[in-house]
Amino acid sequence: MADSDYPSTWYAATRDSSPARAALIGRREVDVAIVGAGFAGLHTARLLAMAGRSVAVLERRRIAWGASGRNGGFVGAGYAERSGALIDRLGIDHARRLYAQSQRGVAIVRQAIETMARPELRMGSRKLTASRTDQGAGFAERTRTVAERLGASFEPWTTEQVRALLATTRYHQAIHDPLSFHIHPLNFALALAADIERRGGAVFEQSDAIGLERGSGWRVRTAQGEIAARHVVLAGNADLGRVQPRIAHAVLPVATYVAVTAKLGPKLAAAVRWSGAISDTRRAGDYYRVVDGDRLLWGGRITTDTREPTRLRDMMRADILSVYPQLGDIGIEHAWPGIMGYAPHKMPQVGEIEPGLWICSAFGGHGLAPTAAGADAVAAGITGEDDRWKLFLPFGTGWAGGALGRLATQLVYWKLQAADWWDEKRQAKNAETLRT
Ligand SMILES: Cc1cc2nc3c(=O)[nH]c(=O)nc-3n(C[C@H](O)[C@H](O)[C@H](O)COP(=O)(O)OP(=O)(O)OC[C@H]3O[C@@H](n4cnc5c(N)ncnc54)[C@H](O)[C@@H]3O)c2cc1C
Repeated sequence: MADSDYPSTWYAATRDSSPARAALIGRREVDVAIVGAGFAGLHTARLLAMAGRSVAVLERRRIAWGASGRNGGFVGAGYAERSGALIDRLGIDHARRLYAQSQRGVAIVRQAIETMARPELRMGSRKLTASRTDQGAGFAERTRTVAERLGASFEPWTTEQVRALLATTRYHQAIHDPLSFHIHPLNFALALAADIERRGGAVFEQSDAIGLERGSGWRVRTAQGEIAARHVVLAGNADLGRVQPRIAHAVLPVATYVAVTAKLGPKLAAAVRWSGAISDTRRAGDYYRVVDGDRLLWGGRITTDTREPTRLRDMMRADILSVYPQLGDIGIEHAWPGIMGYAPHKMPQVGEIEPGLWICSAFGGHGLAPTAAGADAVAAGITGEDDRWKLFLPFGTGWAGGALGRLATQLVYWKLQAADWWDEKRQAKNAETLRT
């Protein structure tokens, strides 16, 4: 696949027509140069353009070529790191303010879709996060307490409520988020880019930022051009490359996969009677939704091996059937990998790292709303509105450990996967003992 093509995904197959953008040639001067046209870069550019700043976005390949154009499409509050871990680490006040910033991210995505008058980008509402082990009698109380402490909208659902909608015995209780929704991420990104241009900003494709120098302001170089700017925002996720090797090494690339089935007809509606998004609570859990009436868009698995598995379609089919065996013989029409960028602390890197040099990156597997939240904080810092980006200060841009870091991360995930597997087995065995 050439860098000028989108990878073969269901999103690319249902992509809105959108012109290829020219590469940067020659010299430009703007208020803010942004490296990376994923959601982090696009939201930052759009919010700054809305605030009257001149902006230019440099993208190595195509708009949303990376994670932003190939993800599950779920938009919801929170971050890749769990809220409970953030409360433990930062205390409830700080965790609550961070959570509120992520809710702001949800609102920015919702409002962008409304302002751009593109309601069809929003493909469904609400989300269920189901547990594959029985959470016991205290689940509802615990969930309500955490929601209240965080100022969150989510609420507990019983196993009966969940199974009335999802015909699988895999799931027990769930957390229902009525404010989440799901979108066509690639078309949303293309719409954001067009909106930036409408507001006077520039978006360049095939423009790899390969050099960054500081003088009276900043200069970002590509092979054929350069941009002089007062501020630069690095929004390159796991793939920042030569432009800032120190930051690039602080983010681990972690692969996950998505598949879209052939049209399944009425058997899908009999199995999944829910138009919202669904995921389970395991660290490397499944995430899926119904799209195009009767197709299942199914994501799952994580690994630090970023090569595409040879039998990806078979793997994804097996994952689907392990939850919904009644679907039987299902065709997989598309399957693709995507790369998430994780810092060791699993939180995004957001803030000013040198005067005028900003970062908005490493959103991991939960980035659709947090990229907007991070972009909002960075834009507010650049315009001088306030310093809410400092909410993210406890999460630095330290070294992620290169190849050794990757191995360590893989070991952690294997351990977590093994723990998930063991919990499920132990519970199944206990249930068996109770029945006999
Ligand atoms: C398969 C998958 C499923 C996911 N599902 C969900 C989900 O359902 N909900 C959710 O909230 N999150 C999900 N995520 C996570 C979410 O997609 C990401 O966190 C988010 O899209 C990250 O956006 P970004 O802009 O930081 O990075 P990216 O989208 O990766 O964009 C970075 C861009 O920067 C460009 N770039 C990098 N370096 C340079 C350079 N030097 N010069 C020029 N350009 C450069 C890259 O080419 C790339 O296009 C998923 C991720 C994956 C991979």
